[in-house]
Amino acid sequence: MTTAPEADPVHPPIFDKCPRFTVPNELRAAGLYPYFRRIQESRDSYVIIDGEKKVMVGSNNYLGLTHDPRILEAAEAALKKYGSGNTGSRFLNGNLDLHDKLEEELADFVGKEAALVFSTGYQTNLGTIGALSGRSDTVYVDKLDHASIQDAVRLGHGRTVRFNHNDFARLRRLLGVDPNPGKMVIVDGVYSMEGDLADLPTLAGLRREFGAALLVDDAHSVGVLGETGAGTAEHFGLTDDVDLIMGTFSKSFASIGGFCAGDATVIDYLRNRARALIFSASMPPASVATVRTALEICQQEPERRERLWANTHRMMKAFRDEGFDIGPTETPIVPILIGPMEKTFRVWKELYLAGVFTNPVAPPAVPEGKCLLRTSYMAIHSDDELDFVLEQIVRVGKQFQII
Ligand code: PMP
Repeated sequence: MTTAPEADPVHPPIFDKCPRFTVPNELRAAGLYPYFRRIQESRDSYVIIDGEKKVMVGSNNYLGLTHDPRILEAAEAALKKYGSGNTGSRFLNGNLDLHDKLEEELADFVGKEAALVFSTGYQTNLGTIGALSGRSDTVYVDKLDHASIQDAVRLGHGRTVRFNHNDFARLRRLLGVDPNPGKMVIVDGVYSMEGDLADLPTLAGLRREFGAALLVDDAHSVGVLGETGAGTAEHFGLTDDVDLIMGTFSKSFASIGGFCAGDATVIDYLRNRARALIFSASMPPASVATVRTALEICQQEPERRERLWANTHRMMKAFRDEGFDIGPTETPIVPILIGPMEKTFRVWKELYLAGVFTNPVAPPAVPEGKCLLRTSYMAIHSDDELDFVLEQIVRVGKQFQII
């Protein structure tokens, strides 16, 4: 008979891995730990940290709406009318008329029959994909899909197949030999670190050929792409070929939360089956009111999108002219590809000290050895701010021999 090892109530072995994970402390000791920066004040296009101003080129506030007075007013009114939180899930006791109205508005906006609102974008993917991936289904995910999609497939009961980024020839072969009747392909509309677009025309062709559903994560596309800002499907004129459009409110819509839109029967199934919706408290009133107002502004003020794209194209051109490698980006996410992690963190630090807030990106968000500095632009960046950012990035780029 085997006996269990003696229990150690003071140091439960499950925690042994914690002190062994030394990377954060090594980075802290080298003065290079870039995460959890403590923002003391946030203004439109800059933040204050340690009493110093940093121009923000590390945010997803693409339309620059987080401080818009109309939004703050709507959020305040909702706060007063409904209170600070809903203290329960939408399923049981936390469903406001505001949530239902927002769903109708979102469905109209993206051109689908119905929409379902979750408390975060992350939960939207968990709830949607987890509920739809049944035992006789296969879910196909691009290896560069967002972490929330990679996590979501683990919750489903179906088979998961991962294909290399944009390797549609392989995806086609895999779909062709799949005996499962239920198939769904999931891609990011805009890849969050690289800024490139999903090739929806090719994916729409595969969808038709194999009867596979197509889910597009439009976290970085709503408000940004398409004539009315409705996202990647609108951009390509392929709304009917995308079965499910998923989006977040934590970027263009200046708040937190997410949605999934599609056919009414599918959305109603999700409403009653998505665990991340049913077992988690609903989006607070002020956030829902924020998103409704942001959606209205997004539709009524296309000039914001125009300005966002003007800023984006200006920065892309300038970086390319200076010799930076910014990869295949086509969107306001403009990464500077660097490679080694330590060098990336050193470049980040130099820029940070100079007053430019960027995001250094390391594995698992990008493949090993492919670290990058993620910069992203907003409609509200002024020409002076962009000049300053560019000047600093060129200076530091030369110093570290990136250009
Ligand atoms: N999908 C993508 C592509 C994202 O970039 C993100 C957030 N970075 C999410 C989903 C999750 O959204 P949220 O942060 O709103 O939960």
